[in-house]
Amino acid sequence: MSESADTAIIGGGPGGVPAALFLLSKGQSVCLFETTGNLGGTCLFEGCIPSKIFIETAKKVRALKNISNFGIEGQFNYKVNWPGVLKRKETILNRRSQAALSHLKSFPKCRFIDAQAKFVEANKVAYSEGGKDHIVEAKNIIIATGSISFIPPVEGIKEAITSEALLSIDHIPQSMAIIGAGPIGIEAAAIFSQMGTKCTVIEMLPRILPNVDKEVAGHLEGILKKEQAIDLFTGAKVTKIVKTSAAKQVVFDYAGKTQKVEAEIVLVAVGRRPRIEGLGLDKVGIECDHSGLRVNEFLETTQKGVYACGDVIGGYMYAHTATSEGLACAKNILSGNKVKIDYFYPPAGLVFSEPEIASCGLTEDEAEIKAIPFITDKYPYQMDARAQIAASAEGFIKLVVEKTTGKILGVHMIGPDASNLISEAAVLVSSGATLKDLAGTVHPHPSLSEGMVVLARQMLAKFYA
Ligand code: NAD
Repeated sequence: MSESADTAIIGGGPGGVPAALFLLSKGQSVCLFETTGNLGGTCLFEGCIPSKIFIETAKKVRALKNISNFGIEGQFNYKVNWPGVLKRKETILNRRSQAALSHLKSFPKCRFIDAQAKFVEANKVAYSEGGKDHIVEAKNIIIATGSISFIPPVEGIKEAITSEALLSIDHIPQSMAIIGAGPIGIEAAAIFSQMGTKCTVIEMLPRILPNVDKEVAGHLEGILKKEQAIDLFTGAKVTKIVKTSAAKQVVFDYAGKTQKVEAEIVLVAVGRRPRIEGLGLDKVGIECDHSGLRVNEFLETTQKGVYACGDVIGGYMYAHTATSEGLACAKNILSGNKVKIDYFYPPAGLVFSEPEIASCGLTEDEAEIKAIPFITDKYPYQMDARAQIAASAEGFIKLVVEKTTGKILGVHMIGPDASNLISEAAVLVSSGATLKDLAGTVHPHPSLSEGMVVLARQMLAKFYA
């Protein structure tokens, strides 16, 4: 059977769904394919949301451990009920997915297809339903199929699990060796070390979180080692993983010697790669390189009329980036390629470590590469009233500012609630605000946000007086 739609969208995650809703709201007919039958994608089922549900439980455990700091004494006989944590996770995930599906289906011109789509021509995709093959012909197509864990070619790697599997693990492991100190590896260590798991992180590069401001990452590294008893090996090369009778052994080269660490679980978190298997892209001239589908500045692939967004095109693999790209694809379909995404300033990035890391715009290193003269300074949370009250006066805010204009190029934070505080920074950086603009605003006292204003005034006095 053959059907038609204005736009066909392959993938129901944070890229595909907002694109579908936008096009539907403008009167288009949309066919949305999702092979799992559920809306939400990696973010909802295998990434951002389940990991943050675990982080929230880890935070509660930490708060209980530190409760005497708040003048509360007594015996607290608590234990983490892991099946209860998993049940809570399932409830939240299902509620969110169902709500998204109901909303999508409330548009009469939406057709949701619970099947895998495959290109047969540049404007036609095939799928199977009820044992029969069908074709959808569309004026435009958006590929938003996301990513999967990259599995490095290391001997014995089949003994390791990916973050997708970790998010459904049925018990709290005694010990875990984590290969890769990117956001996934560091968040896993942050969660499970609070739950009592002995965590060892093995990173190939000389430092953790290579995409984060180096001072911020260095500050976290110190805290993880000293306060959270996480063993960290940077500049370490994993050579093999061996199954032993009781556990798994990760063998790695570190500081010129062969080292071994035994762990119940080995997590491999060394990046993600585009999910393109089974799409039939090669048959219709849609090109892909090692990082993702090739797209032009309007997110159009090498096949005219076919767009792509989110993790499948590589770059910044954040749900919020996928959403802004998905909306750009939709707008370009409607208006004929007018919307470009400006990647000059990296989008807001987060790591839900303890304390949290958040950043927006250029790091010092990136400003140097772009040959932009800049000034920088920090506001330490040790002097912050609200952070002291919350007993979490660890970390700092750092501004990177263009020297000649006073324009705020980047904001980098490590500290309490950084994941929420960064939104103000996103507005400042994206609107081209200057130190003077920020210094001239009134922020409430006592609040974690006032450090931004204090820092702006400090920098004006220090560099421009
Ligand atoms: P990543 O690419 O960000 O980090 C992987 C790390 O593994 C790097 O530091 C790399 O040097 C290291 N590595 C690579 N090969 C190695 C090896 N053989 N041995 C040891 N170390 C090795 O990847 P990730 O942490 O898996 O995250 C994947 C994507 O998901 C990223 O784009 C990330 O930004 C995104 N993500 C975002 C969040 C968030 O926003 N909070 C959370 C998790 C993941």
